[in-house]
Order: sequence, then structure tokens, then C-alpha cells
Amino acid sequence: MKTAFDLSGRVALVTGANGGLGQAIALALAQAGADIAAVGRSEPLQTLAAIAAVGRRGAWVEADLDTSARAGDIVARSVAAFGRVDILVNNAGTIRRNDALDFTEEDWDAVIGVNLKSAFFLSQAIARTWVAAERGGKIINIASMLSFQGGVRVASYTASKSGLLGITRLLANEWAGRGINVNAIAPGYFSTNNTQALRDDPARNRAILERIPAGRWGDPADLGGAAVFLASAAAEYVHGSVLAVDGGWLAR
Ligand code: NAP
Repeated sequence: MKTAFDLSGRVALVTGANGGLGQAIALALAQAGADIAAVGRSEPLQTLAAIAAVGRRGAWVEADLDTSARAGDIVARSVAAFGRVDILVNNAGTIRRNDALDFTEEDWDAVIGVNLKSAFFLSQAIARTWVAAERGGKIINIASMLSFQGGVRVASYTASKSGLLGITRLLANEWAGRGINVNAIAPGYFSTNNTQALRDDPARNRAILERIPAGRWGDPADLGGAAVFLASAAAEYVHGSVLAVDGGWLAR
């Protein structure tokens, strides 16, 4: 029997699915029944094997999501691979660390390009196809604790993730009436490449762990349920919201 969380027959475009949180999200969506267009610049061999192992189809759509990314082309190639795309997960992200006094334009543009600009224009490109076909869809943006907080030494990352939450709300306002659900997931502190520098610094690692009520770093698999929910019919009336999956960090 199908449940409201069932994604059978759906196709999800997931950016940055070759590892870390994107891989875990892609796998959770596949386990719920979706086929996956994995968009990124590195071939996601491990992810594609895991998707195949749960009986779903996966395909790599090669694209660098920097400022030169052509969103319309990426969406068109994803649709060509599967015939349709129903779910977009804007997960790809990058981070640069430096004191605000020394922060360079290059580090600003690189992060804003991947984390914010590509997410907006991919959302626009996919929404255009849905509006043209007179149907809805689901967009999930991967935000951050730095969508709520300032952080330190990560100026462009904080700007991108605060902006991404703003864009989530703006797009929900514009598109909810068209049957397009735009929401965000705000992961807390997860063990991935993105946070390796924090875990390698014993003082930062201890300070972070002491603040997390759950008492541990997040495991990428902890995000799966939130992604499946927001991608599914169960979230039909959820618009412009942000679901924190943070071990309690924001409640502290
Ligand atoms: P990660 O392991 O470093 O993964 C980042 C992903 O983004 C990789 O697939 C990477 O591909 C892709 N990417 C980066 N720059 C790209 C570009 N120019 N073009 C195409 N793909 C690009 O980090 P993660 O922790 O899984 O991060 C995933 C998302 O979660 C990011 O948006 C991050 O900001 C967010 N997040 C993470 C945490 C955390 O604690 N880990 C917390 C909050 C939010 P390559 O392998 O080719 O570089």
C-alpha cells in the first residue's frame, strides 16, 4: 500500500550528490521510490551504485555549479535522462574560511555562486517547466545554522545561507499558489568534508559538541527522513518553512 511518503514514479534532481549530505539525501529519496538525477562536477559512482542497489535508476548530469552554470541546460539534460523531474534538492555547497578583514572577493564570489546563485536559477529553470506543464513540484534548499546565526570567519557562507532561507520564503510566496512547494532543511553540525576543519580543531570540536543537546555530530543518514517528507505528498500544505535537523542546536 502506498503511503503519503511514497515517492514511486517520481524523479529527483539532487545537486552535489557524490558524497556527504547530498549522497545521503539521494539515497533516502531512492529508498522511498524516486529515481535520481545526480548533478555535479564529480562522477558520483558510489551514489549511483547505492541507488541501483535499492532498485532505482540513477544518472550523472555533469555540471559545475559555479557562476557559469547554465541552469536551463542542467534541467533539460535531467529531464532528457528520465522524461521528467518532480523534485529539486539544492544541496551542492562550498565554504571558504578567513577573517572578515582579510576576506577576498574571490572567496565571496565562489561561495555565493554555488550556494545561492545556482540554487535560485535551478529553482527558476525547473519551475518554468512545471508552470509550462501546468503542474506542481517540490523544491528543497539545504540551508544551515548560519541561516539563523552569524558564525565566524565564513562571511560568504553566512551570506549565502541566510540568503538561501530568504529565497526559500520568497519563492514559496510566489509559487505556493501554483502547487510548487519550496522549503528548506537546516542541518546542524554533520560529519562531512564541509566540517572537517572544525573536527580537526580540538577546541572547536569540543565547543561544538558541548552545545549539541544530542551530544554527537550528525550522521548524513539523519537527514533522510526530513528530505523524504518535504519531497512527498505528506508536505503538500508546507510552504516556505525550514526544518532544522540539528540535534537540538537551535533549541539551546
Ligand atoms: P561536502 O561533503 O563538501 O559536499 C559538498 C557537495 O557540493 C559535493 O558534492 C561537492 O562536489 C558539491 N559542490 C561544491 N562545489 C561545487 C561546484 N562548483 N559544482 C558542483 N558541485 C559542487 O559537504 P556537505 O556537508 O555534504 O554539504 C552539503 C550541503 O549541506 C552544502 O550546501 C552545505 O553548505 C550544507 N550544510 C552542511 C553542514 C554540515 O555540517 N556538513 C551543515 C549545514 C549545511 P565535489 O565533490 O565535486 O566538490
